[in-house]
Amino acid sequence: MYFSKLFVPTTRQDPSEAELASHKLMIRSGMIKKTAAGIYNWLPIGLNVLKKVENIVRNNLNNYGAQEILMPMVQPAELWKESERYEQYGKELLKFQDRSQRDFVLGPTHEEIMCEIFRSYPISYKDLPINMYQIQTKFRDEIRPRFGVMRSREFLMKDAYSFDINEKGMENSYLNMKNAYISTFDEIGLDYRIVKADAGNIGGDVSEEFHIIADSGEDLLAISDSSEFAANVEVLEYNKDPSELDGSDSPDGNGKLQIKRGIEVGHIFQLGQKYSEKMSATIKDSTGTDINVFMGCYGIGVSRIVAAAIEQNHDEKGIIWPYSIAPFHVNVICLDPSKEEVIKECQSVYQILRDAGHDVILDDRDIRAGNKFTDNEILGIPYSIILGPRNYANNKYEFLSRATGEKQELNIDEIKQILEEKK
Ligand code: ATP
Ligand code: MG
Repeated sequence: MYFSKLFVPTTRQDPSEAELASHKLMIRSGMIKKTAAGIYNWLPIGLNVLKKVENIVRNNLNNYGAQEILMPMVQPAELWKESERYEQYGKELLKFQDRSQRDFVLGPTHEEIMCEIFRSYPISYKDLPINMYQIQTKFRDEIRPRFGVMRSREFLMKDAYSFDINEKGMENSYLNMKNAYISTFDEIGLDYRIVKADAGNIGGDVSEEFHIIADSGEDLLAISDSSEFAANVEVLEYNKDPSELDGSDSPDGNGKLQIKRGIEVGHIFQLGQKYSEKMSATIKDSTGTDINVFMGCYGIGVSRIVAAAIEQNHDEKGIIWPYSIAPFHVNVICLDPSKEEVIKECQSVYQILRDAGHDVILDDRDIRAGNKFTDNEILGIPYSIILGPRNYANNKYEFLSRATGEKQELNIDEIKQILEEKK
């Protein structure tokens, strides 16, 4: 991709309404543009990163045997009345009518639709387990949308649903999804923790959350310093300020609690028969008896991950992308694109790296070099090659790391080697 052809509306000023670094940087790097409170456009660079997260999530779910589907965002109110969530869910559920005054809701989650699909077919216990997921826009009319795409009203979620004949099966499906999540967050490469959680509006008895550790996180996590114990403080019983829990005894009797802040990026639930009873989603067991199916549901905040990754990886100059989700791996910064031999050399380096399978951008814009460097820092591209009339003597290029600031003089094969190891 040539920078001159790409719509990247970077700005130098911090937007006034933004409190979090990720929110500021996503606007300053031209990744997103607000349309209304909690409702955002994803511009080319932003969408590029969002798609990378989406694909890592998709590949890992597929590897763990989940099957992708796509459900409607518009859902009949009747289904929500059946599950009794039409009133229970509260004001986050956006309700509306079509031209014939039929009631609908805009999907904040899809347990009802999933049950409706399931109960429409004669599914045998032999067909189970089944696990289906989608990656889709959700709508929740949040009371205080804020922090950009971190807590928005419209956002991209991966939601998966498992179906089993009994509790044991459900536990296995849950564990399988938990492993899929571990593999997903490991691949993205962020510092995260898995904690016991409250099941909230979704329900069920067992649930765990995946949190990206960041000082700006909205949730407080209590993590034992010498056992597996880790919980969102909202599930703990205590009678002091939660921050005073720091250093207190772990509830499992092992070690002391450390309090950390986290951003919830995933949440997995064992639902049991909560929805299948209310919605009569049944299955025939080996004796031909109808059993309410045992469900699990599993969410990942795909768009929130983009913001959380920035929250964990930035400095005062801009974003520092983890390699796995960087919009580009290398930026070939052309210092003098008006000089024929310079731009030719840049294009040749660009093509060699592209042919080797790397995501490369060539900054060929006719603007001051200083602005190119500033944009490169805001955008957080992991590596750049700075190329001007004096910079490629003896076939060596100036190769710069965004994370460490280290500058090296390298030839093209050495550069390829470094990028290959990062893949
Ligand atoms: P929160 O506690 O942050 O409001 P939640 O517990 O209501 O989230 P879930 O129903 O568990 O959310 O949804 C699954 C995932 O979707 C969450 O773990 C989170 O990553 C993401 N998510 C939920 N609400 C939002 C939102 N308003 N904006 C962006 N992502 C969201
Ligand atoms: Mg949750």
